[in-house]
Parts: sequence; structure tokens; C-alpha cells
Amino acid sequence: MDFRDTPQEAAWRDEIRTFLEREKPEPIDDVGAPMQRGKDPRLDAWRKKLAEKGWIAPAWPKEYGGAGLGVMEQFIMNEEFAESRVPNVGGMGTSMIGPTIIIHGSEEQKKEHLGAILRGEVQWCQGYSEPGSGSDLASLQTRAVKDGDDWVINGQKIWTSGAHTADWMFMLARTEPDAPKHRGITYFLIDMKSPGITVQPLVNMGNMHNFNEVFFEDVRVPNENVLGEVNRGWYIGTTTLDFERSSIGNAVGQRQLLEYYMRYVKERGGLDAAGRSAFADRWIEASAARMLSYRVVTLQANGMVPNYEASIAKLFNSELGQRIARTAMGMLGLSGQLTDDKTAPLKGRAPASYLQTVASTIAGGTSEIQRNIIATRGLGLPRG
Ligand SMILES: Cc1cc2nc3c(=O)[nH]c(=O)nc-3n(C[C@H](O)[C@H](O)[C@H](O)COP(=O)(O)OP(=O)(O)OC[C@H]3O[C@@H](n4cnc5c(N)ncnc54)[C@H](O)[C@@H]3O)c2cc1C
Repeated sequence: MDFRDTPQEAAWRDEIRTFLEREKPEPIDDVGAPMQRGKDPRLDAWRKKLAEKGWIAPAWPKEYGGAGLGVMEQFIMNEEFAESRVPNVGGMGTSMIGPTIIIHGSEEQKKEHLGAILRGEVQWCQGYSEPGSGSDLASLQTRAVKDGDDWVINGQKIWTSGAHTADWMFMLARTEPDAPKHRGITYFLIDMKSPGITVQPLVNMGNMHNFNEVFFEDVRVPNENVLGEVNRGWYIGTTTLDFERSSIGNAVGQRQLLEYYMRYVKERGGLDAAGRSAFADRWIEASAARMLSYRVVTLQANGMVPNYEASIAKLFNSELGQRIARTAMGMLGLSGQLTDDKTAPLKGRAPASYLQTVASTIAGGTSEIQRNIIATRGLGLPRG
């Protein structure tokens, strides 16, 4: 693996850096707290600047309003954006459902949804998980039954991130209960304003409301809102949607967070030997996380599909987030448990991270599932 940029890659990196120097919005704090949709006009201004360059969905083909970037160009862009702590404006619309509609959608679906996603007019949420179906997603029970030109949906989704602010949901429902479980599922696009949908908040242990339960009671969805073929939804839902699955944004973010904590330590005269050693370990691990991301993207750039390698990067990155939070809590001692914005050291960032970092070890496939993949596909161990 060669970590150096080719002359073309270096030129591309320079172009992005020049753009960022000129145009990037100022971050709100040292670690760039995210700007929130509808709450910060800087986000709209930033979106406009990105849209002018086709950089809202850089991996989409040009004909659909993207920049048609290759894997390595996209990776470099993500890396530079993460280094500059600029907000991601696309969300699930550009990274998940947009690419899926480009591949599987009808012309009408493309016309209706792609432009709206690029203009930032709609926000999407993902309705996959159910109370009894997470890791074993294909066991999902939400039912859709055909009735004339509509489908009638009944059931429940859970852990639906952003459902409380979303305009649309892409979701999976069972349409053929007697078929083998992967073959009786259909992929639907659902307007969240449809009668019969109820969204209930779920507040996590960090006291944040990000995800929800969503209930469907006789929700009517027109047949035009089926994406792809009926009963083939599983295969559409598992299409590898991510153009770039290297977790590079996370790897860069972990290092920045460590730098943030270390600045605080230095201003207060340093740490004892054990504290220094813990920070050194985290620093080495953050460098290893970056290397794992490079490995994934190098495979992709060479036309291969990363498999257990992406699981290693995801597992290592998400668990590193927890280790960094624990190290920071140890550094701050008892006062580090304060969460109050005004009196707590670092505005309560460490305990918030301590509670929040659990989430990424579960979302997008739990650590145990990643370890299963690494064991069976990476190490060739037999399934249990
Ligand atoms: C922050 C966050 C955001 C999320 N956002 C969304 C969203 O927007 N949309 C959506 O659809 N879902 C979302 N999810 C749900 C997420 O995809 C599921 O939580 C995840 O797939 C795990 O499923 P589960 O919670 O049902 O746990 P389960 O699958 O019931 O697992 C429970 C425990 O058993 C372990 N386990 C399960 N199967 C195995 C196995 N075969 N081998 C070893 N151990 C196993 C798991 O690792 C876990 O520790 C989100 C979750 C989180 C935490």
C-alpha cells in the first residue's frame, strides 16, 4: 500500500483545501458541533456552496446532479472535510436512498426524489429494524397487504434515527409471509405525513432524542412507491449503498478529539505517567484506525469489494470511541462526571461521549456481528 498521493490525487486534495479555506463555515466549538437542519442558516449557505460544485452527493453520476467521483477522490474529499470539521449536509438522502433510487428506481421515482434530496428539501429516515428484528433483520414482521392500487401497512419499526424530523422513510415490509424469509420482503418509499403513522420518541441514556419508534396502522401506500420488484426488497435493501465505507471521517474525528483533550491537559500542567501512557495508547490506536480506513479504500480503488476489512474498520473505530471517552473521564477525575454546560470541564464533553459512544458499537451492525464476520469470512473459522 502506498500512502502517498499520486500527482492527480495531490492536485485534487489541493483543490478541496483551497475551496475549504475560502468557503468553510466556522465550527461552533473546538470539535465542530454539528449544525442542525432548520436551526442554523450557515448550514443552508454551506449547502448552496457545495451544490454549486456538485459536491452535495459527489459520488452520484453527473446526470443526476453529482460529481461522478471515483472511490479515491471521494475518500480524499471525505478526509479533507473531516479534517476541516465541516458539516455533512446530505444525510441518508445522499448516502443511502439516493444511490438506491438511482440503481433501482423508476423514472418517476428519480424525478420525484433525487432533485429534492440534492436541494436539501427533504430528509429521509431508515425503517429497517423492528423490536424483534435487528441483527436478524430478515425476520421482520411489519406487514404490507395489497388492496387495489395501494398497499396497506401494519406493524412497528424501532430505533428509527431522525423519524421525528423526516419527510420520507425508506422501509422494508413483509409482503409474502409464506415465502422463505429473505424472499417475501418488499422495499417501500413512504411519505411520513401518511395517515396512520405515529412517531414516538426514544431518549437515549445520554438524554438525547435521536431515534424513535414508528407505528403503522392501516397506512396506505400507493403501488408507485414500491422500489424495485415486489418481494425482492431484501436484495435492494442490502445493496451496498455506501460508495465509501472506510470510516475515514470517524478515524479523523477520533484523532481531533484526542487533540482537544490533550490541549486541555497541557494547559493544566500535564498528567501522571499512567495518564500519559493511556493517551499514548489512544494516539497509537487512532493512527491504526486511520490505517484500517486506508486499507478499505485501497481495496475499493483496486476494484475489490471490502468485506471483513470493512468490519474490522467499523469495529475498531467504534470501540476506540469508547476507549477515548474512558481515557478522558479518567483524566478529569470526579469533576469529569459533571454534565452541566457551564461548570463542567470541557462543557461536559467527556461524560457525554462516554454515554454516546456506546451507540456506534450497535448501530450499523453490532460489535458481535462484526466479530462474527471477521471470524468466519476473515479467519475462515467455522460458524457456531
Ligand atoms: C444509534 C443507533 C441508531 C440506529 N438507527 C437506526 C435507523 O435509523 N434505522 C433502523 O432501521 N435501525 C437503526 N438502528 C438499529 C440497529 O440497526 C440495531 O440496533 C442493530 O442492528 C442491532 O439490533 P437489535 O438492537 O435488535 O439487537 P439484537 O440483534 O437483538 O442483538 C442483541 C444482542 O445480541 C447480540 N447478537 C445478536 N445476534 C448475534 C449473533 N448471531 N452472534 C452473536 N451475538 C449476537 C448483539 O450483538 C447484541 O449484543 C440504530 C441503532 C442505534 C444504536
